[in-house]
Amino acid sequence: MSERSPSPVLPAHARAVVVGGGIIGTSVAYHLAALGWQDVVLLERDRLTSGTTWHAAGLMVTFGSTSETSTEMRKYSRDLYRRLESETGQSTGLAQIGFIEVASDKDRLEEYRRVAAFNRYCGVDVLEISPREVQQLFPLARVDDIEAGFYVKDDGRVNPVDVTMALAKGARGRGVRIIEGVAATGVLQARGRVTGVRTALGDIGSEIVVNCAGMWARQFGALAGVTIANQAAEHYYLITEPIRDLPKMPVLEDPGCYGYYREEGGGLMVGLFEPVCAPWKVEGIPEDFSFGELPPDWERMTPFLERAMSRVPITQEVGMKRFFCGPESFTPDLRPIVGEAPELEGYFVAAGLNSIGVLTGGGLGRVLAHWIVTGYPDVDVTGFNIDRLHVTQANPEYRRARTVESLGLVYKCHYPHHSPATARGVRKSPFHERLAAAGAHFIEVSGWESPAWYGEPGTTPDPGPLTWERPRWFARWREEHRAARENVILMDMSFMGKFLVQGRDAGRILNRICANQVDGAAGLITYTQWLNETGRLEADLTVTKLAAEQYLVVVTDTMVRHAETWMKRHLGDSHAFVSDVTSAYGQLNVQGPASRTLLQQLTSADLSNEAFPFRTAREIDIGFARVLCVRITYVGELGYELYVPAEQATHVYERIVAAGAALGLRHAGLKALGSLRLEKGYRDYGHDIDNTDEPYEVGLGFALDLKKPGGFIGKEAVLAHKAAGPLKRRLLQVLVKDPQPLMFHAEVVRRDGVAVGYLRAASYGHTLGGAVGLAMIEPKVAVDDAYLASGQWQVEIAGRLYPVVVSARPLYDPAMKRIHA
Ligand SMILES: Cc1cc2nc3c(=O)[nH]c(=O)nc-3n(C[C@H](O)[C@H](O)[C@H](O)COP(=O)(O)OP(=O)(O)OC[C@H]3O[C@@H](n4cnc5c(N)ncnc54)[C@H](O)[C@@H]3O)c2cc1C
Repeated sequence: MSERSPSPVLPAHARAVVVGGGIIGTSVAYHLAALGWQDVVLLERDRLTSGTTWHAAGLMVTFGSTSETSTEMRKYSRDLYRRLESETGQSTGLAQIGFIEVASDKDRLEEYRRVAAFNRYCGVDVLEISPREVQQLFPLARVDDIEAGFYVKDDGRVNPVDVTMALAKGARGRGVRIIEGVAATGVLQARGRVTGVRTALGDIGSEIVVNCAGMWARQFGALAGVTIANQAAEHYYLITEPIRDLPKMPVLEDPGCYGYYREEGGGLMVGLFEPVCAPWKVEGIPEDFSFGELPPDWERMTPFLERAMSRVPITQEVGMKRFFCGPESFTPDLRPIVGEAPELEGYFVAAGLNSIGVLTGGGLGRVLAHWIVTGYPDVDVTGFNIDRLHVTQANPEYRRARTVESLGLVYKCHYPHHSPATARGVRKSPFHERLAAAGAHFIEVSGWESPAWYGEPGTTPDPGPLTWERPRWFARWREEHRAARENVILMDMSFMGKFLVQGRDAGRILNRICANQVDGAAGLITYTQWLNETGRLEADLTVTKLAAEQYLVVVTDTMVRHAETWMKRHLGDSHAFVSDVTSAYGQLNVQGPASRTLLQQLTSADLSNEAFPFRTAREIDIGFARVLCVRITYVGELGYELYVPAEQATHVYERIVAAGAALGLRHAGLKALGSLRLEKGYRDYGHDIDNTDEPYEVGLGFALDLKKPGGFIGKEAVLAHKAAGPLKRRLLQVLVKDPQPLMFHAEVVRRDGVAVGYLRAASYGHTLGGAVGLAMIEPKVAVDDAYLASGQWQVEIAGRLYPVVVSARPLYDPAMKRIHA
């Protein structure tokens, strides 16, 4: 099937070169060909599957994710693996024997009920079953201590090698050349673009290179200057001796016991996800590691193994045939690394699969191939886009520290408000020590230590256990929220990405990229989106015109590299220059009705409404410092953002805190930011709006300037969408009428009992008096006022239905009176 001659003749050119012949590389090649790109070469250093794919356990499960993209990829993969055999004649070994996910404690039950509701909305046929039913299906399991099972009868397992071979065969049948035994040794580039791939047998010219090199992806990426923060870790399963009269059983997974269980060779396979794991070869993966195994660390693994085996006691009685350890790649946030590299145009990556490369590989290949062929992804990729990560996350020390936690997170209960415990203290704002002294409880935000909420000053507050209920710090959070609504708060937002864009052409080009008018008078801040040619969102940000040829662009932490790349790729040879000045400024937000009173005490600048209206930006003096003061808000109140030179940050902070004491100034954290902004319906790219959305659908039509000369990128597409008639999908605010239940993300919204959408982001509205969030509603009919007003609206939370208010207008201060005060 593949070319494996000792010295194959390589083509001089290919439309795309895929590097790596594991499940991901073959899936990408297959889908490129399926989309009509037949002139594709796949290079495999050794033999297909020789990296990680050959030893994967092959679990296929569609249940379990609250990401729509991930769930769709799982479903697509299962369907693809079912039909590949009839298409290629090569079996994938798909056995739809069923899959049971066990909830062995109350918190896990709460999680799975929430996930199950969302997965059902996505078309996964998942049933909650009793412990007795679990035992009927999997008689060898001990069920006396479990709460429930979540059963998908069409899930099961595949043979990963067979799937890869079937994908390769399908790709080859469509014209792809699969060449084994030839490693890519470098990537050719010119002027920021890929031009080809280097091998020992010569170069292959190509405009597209796809790095699917699995655990080698990072070091192969580094050859081309591309940063990929994946890291291999030890990953284990055990296979028992054959068990006599082994019944036919579904796959069983019990994260509470760190184990999964399925039939293998007449015995059982017991797979493990231990809570504390071991990175492997941080310094670099050996080039010649093929079909490799690692020596098991018995001492480290024995306690976890014993716990896992206790769920299916017969595994403790029969002998152990094999204890296998192989490496698998993990990433800092347990999401894959996918998309076009910010460093190099035409260089795509699909790596870091976090132990679900087989069960999502088919779908991921489809997504990436579509992205490459059309130029745009057709699913929300904000969660796994390569450019969400920061370069320091690829540092050896970071990878070594974080990977210890990553593998175990797969099986942890996915509580809200979780923040990683490892690789902390990576980035600290200039205010850090002061905020710590003020009682901050820090969470990690793209490596930044950012206060989530504050305890008593002078203490290190204890957040208490993670929970689905109200956390221990709920009252502190409420007080911070109230202080913003009723008085004044101070918030560190230094993690926001900041760019200075300067030059004679800066205004013209920014105005072409931005959908709003950003090149009016100097001293004005503008909220805007960037759209692509399809009229969908690329970014959501503010642009402040500082002076005639000088602009400040501010984006959220996960958008820093995306924004920088987008700008640079649109600047061309013009006289405009982008500098990342994130670290040059501390950003303090002073927000709330008393914010003007507070700041006015500290500056000689006139902050009155007349002299300094909403959306104004100018330098003001505070103490010895010159500070860029921008009157804007992300919480829905009168307020200011202060950009303070890093070396004067603590000086300005101290002045504000000293003057604020008499006014009752409170420090507030990101939890308050979340609840305040969601009450006001403010959007957050990557959370409640993403690359699949058009501005009108997500209520951002007001930020489009359709009249500005020269238009903007995506304008024609936006107009075409508008002309297509009433919106059939809309982002709406949702408020639960009962003050008790909490929403976090992915809760399903029903209208007259029919599921019509889900919460993309949620928090607790301390002012509105209930859980609040933003839901995408897509019922396939016009979502107009009449549709909203008629119908009974409810939200499903952990299996219970609650009445909700649904609104297209902000539920808090729709007339913006407070902001303009
Ligand atoms: C013990 C274990 C159990 C697992 N169980 C499951 C499971 O049940 N379900 C599931 O979904 N996932 C599972 N996984 C994870 C799954 O195996 C991986 O996510 C998946 O195989 C990754 O595929 P890949 O194509 O990215 O990497 P790989 O399979 O490693 O493929 C990368 C390929 O790139 C080649 N390569 C590298 N550098 C170059 C170069 N310079 N030039 C040319 N070729 C190059 C390598 O030789 C290799 O063949 C498991 C993993 C382990 C370790």
